[in-house]
Amino acid sequence: MNSSEGQEVYCFQGDSLVIPADTPDSRLNEGVSEKAAREELEIDEIFEIPAVDMPGNIRGVNVRENAALPASWKAVPMRQAVNLLTYGMTVDGRGPVGRLLRSFHISQWRKESAYCGSCGSRNSDSPSEPARLCPVCGRLEFPRISPAVITIIINDRDEALLAHNRKFAAGVYSLIAGFNEAGENLEATVAREIREEVGLEVKDIRYLASQPWPFPNSLMLGFTARHAGGEIRCDQVEIEDAQWFSRDGLPRLPGNGSVSRFLINSWREGKL
Ligand SMILES: [Zn+2]
Repeated sequence: MNSSEGQEVYCFQGDSLVIPADTPDSRLNEGVSEKAAREELEIDEIFEIPAVDMPGNIRGVNVRENAALPASWKAVPMRQAVNLLTYGMTVDGRGPVGRLLRSFHISQWRKESAYCGSCGSRNSDSPSEPARLCPVCGRLEFPRISPAVITIIINDRDEALLAHNRKFAAGVYSLIAGFNEAGENLEATVAREIREEVGLEVKDIRYLASQPWPFPNSLMLGFTARHAGGEIRCDQVEIEDAQWFSRDGLPRLPGNGSVSRFLINSWREGKL
C-alpha cells in the first residue's frame, strides 16, 4: 500500500475486513482504493493514524455496522483473514500485515474511546499524538494494548503439551495462554497460567516471539518452557483436555497465522 498517495485504505465493519469480492486470499493485507470505498460503502468515519514502520499515515475506514455491502464487496472476519495470511510479520513485526493489524486495532479502539473515561465528555482526536484527547479535562487516552502470554511446554521426552480449550473448534489443540495481571512480570504469568490450567510446574521460561493479536487488543508474547514437575490436571473451566504429544502424532492445530502455530512449528522443526 502506498500511503503517500493517500489513496489506499483498510475498511472494517465490526470484526470483519471489507474488501472487493474478487480479492484473492493472499492479498487480504493490501489496502483498497479510498475512492471506491467512498463511492460504494456506507461509511461512519475515515481515520488517519501514523504508521509505525514507515513515514506517513495509514488510513482506515469504519463502515456502518449494519449496512448491507454491495455485491462487489465482501466481509471477511479478521480472525479468518489472519489465518489466511502468512506468518512473516511476526519475525520483525513490519510490513503490510502489521499495518492491517494496526488499522484493525485502532478501528476497534476508536469505537470504545468516544468518551473520556474520567469525566465522560465526548473525546476529540489529539492534534499532536495518536491518541484521544478530552477537551474538558485534558485526559489523553492511547490505544490499549493488553499483554498475554502463550507457551510451548516441552518435557524430557521432547514431547509438547497441547490443550483443548472449550472455546476452540472441535478437535483443535493449542498452547496454554493467558493474560498478564497487574503487578506480574511475564515469566510469572507463564508459570501461573500453566499451574492454573493444567497443574504443571515449569522451568527455563524463555521469550521467543510476539504477535499483535487485536481480538480485541492483545499483544501475544510467545514463550518456551521445560516441564519441571507435576502431572496434567485440567482445570475443566477453560481447558477440557491436555496431553503430551510427539512430533509424529499431532492433533489438529491452530491456523498458520497464529503465534501458537509458529511456536509449535518451531518445535516440530527441531529449532527449540
Ligand atoms: Zn475528560
